[in-house]
Amino acid sequence: MADLEIRGLTKVFPGGVRALDELSLHIEDGEFFALLGPSGCGKTTLLRSIAGLETPNSGKILIGGRDVTRLPPGARDLAMVFQDYALYPHMTVADNIAYPLKVRGVGRKERRDTAESVGRSLQIQGAMLDRRPGQLSGGQQQRVALARSIAYRPHVFLFDEPLSNLDARLRLEARTFLKQLQRDLGVTTVYVTHDQAEALALADRMAVMEQGRIRQLDTPSNCFLRPANIFVAGFIGSTPMNLLPATVQDGGLDVAGRKLLIPDAIRAQAKVGDAVILGARPEYVSVSATELPDSLGGIVRVLENLGVDSLVTVEVGDLLVKATVPEERVPAVGDQVWLQPAQGRLLVYRQDDGEQVGAPPVAPIEAPALAPQAG
Ligand code: ATP
Repeated sequence: MADLEIRGLTKVFPGGVRALDELSLHIEDGEFFALLGPSGCGKTTLLRSIAGLETPNSGKILIGGRDVTRLPPGARDLAMVFQDYALYPHMTVADNIAYPLKVRGVGRKERRDTAESVGRSLQIQGAMLDRRPGQLSGGQQQRVALARSIAYRPHVFLFDEPLSNLDARLRLEARTFLKQLQRDLGVTTVYVTHDQAEALALADRMAVMEQGRIRQLDTPSNCFLRPANIFVAGFIGSTPMNLLPATVQDGGLDVAGRKLLIPDAIRAQAKVGDAVILGARPEYVSVSATELPDSLGGIVRVLENLGVDSLVTVEVGDLLVKATVPEERVPAVGDQVWLQPAQGRLLVYRQDDGEQVGAPPVAPIEAPALAPQAG
């Protein structure tokens, strides 16, 4: 087992793309850590650098305290599972699973025993062990790739969107399974995804990345409830957060000409006249059919059925504000309603730099340790 430390890692590709920009990060031993961000933010480059498949321009990578920055992939003691599983098509399932052992010179009998025992834990057994990958479903192939990485007994697992080829239902099942497996094995895991729901569901902690940098390094719960900046606020959440231009007033905010109260702790950090962005998740905006003081009055324009809840879009002055409501309280299109964001869930960001008002800045990251290898 090992922790993983990234210190000031920079990777500039030929042509000048700065895929990683002085990135630092410390992942604890046994932690399930997700790297999340939009396409092109540098997630895969970071994972490939940890694996030894990319050479950074500067910075260090440590696994279990050992500097592996210049070591080849095979000397890093880590196993990587890719989106396309990268199974060997001409080998049987059993031989695929036990391949890391063959590379280490382990004998045939022990390899077969390992393939059978690891396979069993992933429900790959019996005749399936003697099939070729081409004769398996996508979900089965994914389990074979996982079994191979487990057979390797690495210090660190690196996963690059390993579930993205599965259909929606199988993906949910595989997600639960993967989380349980990681808990049982206790192997430090770095998991790349652009799917925020997957990161929230799986990770102990996560880094939200943008353009080669970390915008927030935190627990899933904090990234969801207390996004440190507008970028993270807009990226996380299945229904996008309301991000509404507002102005600080005496005692509250002016939002589209309406007055809204904000907690004292936030107001103390802002000056009257400051241009800010109010952040409120639709799940934490209540909808009332009767007029409330200090609320956002408006007209219902769109209703969307989300299953248990409905998403209501309300025109408030020249803004559109969204709120979720339970099925028994869904208003009609055209109704006048009053919206009130829950005070304890309300967020305020500065318009100029997009950082949160009234919250401590994101803690600077300290770096130390790591160790991987390739399966
Ligand atoms: P995705 O979710 O689309 O896989 P990502 O966050 O994993 O995206 P990376 O693949 O790490 O992003 O790419 C980061 C940036 O580096 C992108 O702008 C990409 O175009 C660029 N890049 C990646 N590999 C190379 C390469 N071999 N040569 C030049 N530029 C590259």
